[in-house]
Amino acid sequence: MEQLRQRILADGRALSDRVLLVDSFLNHQVDPQLMRAVGEEFARRFAGDGVTRVVTIESSGIAPAVMTALQMGVPMVILKKSVSSILQDGILQTEVFSFTKNAPYQLTLKRQFVHPGDRVLLVDDFLANGEAAFGAIRLIEQAGAEVIGVGAVIAKMFQPGARRLREAGYRVEPLAPIRRMAEGVIEFE
Ligand code: 5GP
Repeated sequence: MEQLRQRILADGRALSDRVLLVDSFLNHQVDPQLMRAVGEEFARRFAGDGVTRVVTIESSGIAPAVMTALQMGVPMVILKKSVSSILQDGILQTEVFSFTKNAPYQLTLKRQFVHPGDRVLLVDDFLANGEAAFGAIRLIEQAGAEVIGVGAVIAKMFQPGARRLREAGYRVEPLAPIRRMAEGVIEFE
């Protein structure tokens, strides 16, 4: 997606060979027009796949996911990172190792919001090692739904997430696939 690539080159900052800062348009300040274009592109790529729900992970996935859901005319569901303080019926939880915090957290889904038979498009801001995506997939599948694909706004293809997901049989659609990064350098596939 050319518009997104140009924005990453203009306003993104490669802090190292592993971490890209995009907080001026994607995950701190958000550019709604760019997010609308991202939503339109995911909706175009997954048109005809019978998607019934878009699922994302709080908080940085919400902006692209809600725009995708709006465009597809389906609900959007946010997987929560907080731990439920009381035991509640119908809660699914799984442990995920956080790329940015370097620590595990609990990902939570209320069964009420993803149903058996749902066809789910998972959307997130970044795909790195795939831990967040695999955690989300565990919850979606435990809820009895099918994961139709994974839409990553940015995928660092030199990290193993995209390959692991594809090897496990999931369709991965990165809008901005990065081949290589170094401090101050960003190269797309
Ligand atoms: P993974 O679980 O695939 O290793 O990492 C994905 C999650 O980590 C994303 O939800 C995203 O929030 C965060 N993340 C991974 N790499 C980066 C990065 O380079 N920059 C930022 N800002 N977040 C990242």
